[in-house]
Formats: sequence, structure tokens, C-alpha cells
Amino acid sequence: MRNILKLLAGLSLVVTFLMVQSCGTTAEHKALIITGQNNHNWEKSSIIIKDILDQTGIFETEILLSPPAGESMSGFLPEFNKFEVVILDYNGDPWPDKAKLDFVDYVKNGGGVVIYHAADNAFPEWKEYNEMIGLGGWGNRNEKSGPYYYWKDGKMIKDTSPGKGGGHGARHPFLVINRDTEHPVTRGLPEKWMHSEDELYSWLRGPAENINVLSTAYSDSTKGGSGREEPVLFTISYGKGRVFHTVLGHCGKGDDAPAMHGAGFITTFQRGAEWAATGNVTLAIPDNLPNSVSVVIWDKLSPLTVEELLQKAGKYNIGMSRKYLADLTERIRRVSDDPGELKKYENKLLKFLDSDATTDSKNYVMKELSWMGTETSIPVLEKLLKSEDTAEMATFALKRIKSE
Ligand code: ZN
Repeated sequence: MRNILKLLAGLSLVVTFLMVQSCGTTAEHKALIITGQNNHNWEKSSIIIKDILDQTGIFETEILLSPPAGESMSGFLPEFNKFEVVILDYNGDPWPDKAKLDFVDYVKNGGGVVIYHAADNAFPEWKEYNEMIGLGGWGNRNEKSGPYYYWKDGKMIKDTSPGKGGGHGARHPFLVINRDTEHPVTRGLPEKWMHSEDELYSWLRGPAENINVLSTAYSDSTKGGSGREEPVLFTISYGKGRVFHTVLGHCGKGDDAPAMHGAGFITTFQRGAEWAATGNVTLAIPDNLPNSVSVVIWDKLSPLTVEELLQKAGKYNIGMSRKYLADLTERIRRVSDDPGELKKYENKLLKFLDSDATTDSKNYVMKELSWMGTETSIPVLEKLLKSEDTAEMATFALKRIKSE
């Protein structure tokens, strides 16, 4: 009897463990990052991509390293079929024929693929791969690889004129324009958004068949670019498979990878990966995305919480960058039709005014309160009347609140 009880107790433990496991994780999609050879800092970029995907909670991501450049590739046989989406952060030696055949089969039969930045430099000689990526660059690509493909007069055009495939000017922040705003990846995102400092791949060429351009960016010839509106995000259908191609996200050997920390890069990468895996996007639109004027950087690869944002904003002094203040304003504006949400912000701002935040940041916050504050704000503002540095703005805010 005692043994049976022990057994039952053991079983229920197992059951509980399984239940906790299945409730605790919502990762629905298995993702594989392939890297190990790249003319970029793949050691860093692959970890960042894994973070970007895993932070969504819907991916469980593994990284597979190829043998180092120049070593035998014969044993490199990824098990693509175990994954719903394969992300290529790879630009290196050719794969063995078996791996190439397996990959083509995987995609043809409905597998998802994300082509990331220099992965479109890879495999210039592999016909099927070039069909999958739509457009590529470098590796002696030229008119034999296919046409140039860029946005002109309101549509994408193919340009068969001869010339090299692939190039970019100096790194800089640039404006991305979503041309297809109804695609699951871009639907609900700002139509125009500033991308953080990055290389803008230009003069790409390739088969460009079954391709749907989601976004373009102007490649400025004064910065060494092509003078064309170049495609930066696009999808390709290949058999039953879906390919999401982002040319964004340069990660150099010594830099902090600003391109990979841009909110627009991260958001489109996550959504593109989900779309490649499933054909749909369920991820919510994040809180603070860039607009057509300002870049938004997510240091932790995810948006700051309001508390984190206020903490950063609280260090503001006149003359410093106002980006955290601007972000705060933007977030409050976005809920301006929702009294319940405004009230939550009001409470947080009042706590802020009571903290050791700088005078300049408090004055800024009082200006916000002046239009959205209620009588709850009055006692806190009255307290700020007593200090010379804050009296003027407190008077202004009180007057506006009381007159409403
Ligand atoms: Zn690069």
C-alpha cells in the first residue's frame, strides 16, 4: 500500500511538473539560426537574433554552427524539418549537396526561412538559393544573376542593365517606407519609420520572381548609395514555403550593432519570422516604434517599460537629448482617448514629481500633466509651488487643470 501511495505521489509530481511546464511556456514555434561563417560578427549577431526571437515568447530558438571556414563541410547536415523557421545568418563556404537538397525540399514543402543581411551575399552559384532569396549581392553577382529591382514611379521595376550586384554607402540612419501596408508583417506598423544607423544594401540583383516588396528606403547617392529607392524588406514564395528577407541589421566586428537595436528592425524581424513560420502574425504592435523623424533604439532589444522610461527621463537636464521625454509624450498621446489609461499615467507622473528626478524633467512632466491631469494632481503640484525652480510650471499646470 505504502508503495502504491509513493507511486501515486510520484505520478502526481510528474503530472504537476508537466502541467507547469506546458503552462509556463508558450513557445509554439521552433526556430533554427544557422551561422558559423560570415564576414560579419556572427558570434554576436546570432545571439542577438536568438534574444530577439525568444523575447516574443512564441519561439524556441536554437543556434547551429557550421564548421569554421575552410574546414570540411561534409558532415554539415542540418535537420531542417525539425523547425518551422530557419534563419540564415550565414555567408560562407558552400554546403554539401545533401544539405542543399534537404534545404530546397524543406522550403518547397512549406518550411519558413528568414534571410538576414549578409546571408544574401552567400551561395552566388546555387540557383535554387538565389530563387529563394529573390535578390542578392556581391560574390561576383552581375547581370547574369538577374535584374536590378527597385521602386520607381509608384511601383517596383526590373532593370536589366549590366553592372555589379551589391553595394552600400556609408552607414547612417535612414527612412524606411512600407509599400505594402496590408501584409501581416507590416499591417499596423507606422508607414514611415526611421531605421537606426545601418548599411543600406543597394544594387542587389537576382531572379526577383514570386517576390513581394514590403518596404523600401532611399539610397542616397550623396552618401555613396545608388540614388534609388531600394527594397529592404521583402517576401518570396518558393513552392509552399515562405521566405522573409531583411537586408537590415549590419553587425560589425567592433561596433555596438546599433542597426540590430533599432525598434523597427527588431519588430519587423520578429513579425517576419512568425509570418515565415506560420503565414500569419499574432504578435502585438509594440508601444514605442519610430516615426518618420526619430530613431527609436531598444537597448535591451525590447521596449522600455513606463517605469524604466521614467527613470531615464528623470536624469534629463536642459541641453541633453530629449528622446526619453519625447517617447513619454508619444506614449501618453497614444492613450489620450482612454481616461482609464490616462489615469494610470497621471499616477505614475505624480510619483515621478515626488521622486529625486531632475528639475528640468519635472518641469517637462508638469507640462504634460497640465492637459491630462485631474484634481488628483493638485496637491502634488501645490507642493512644487514652494520651490523656485518648479513654481512657474506648477502655476501654469494648476491653472490649466483648475480651468477644466
Ligand atoms: Zn553589413
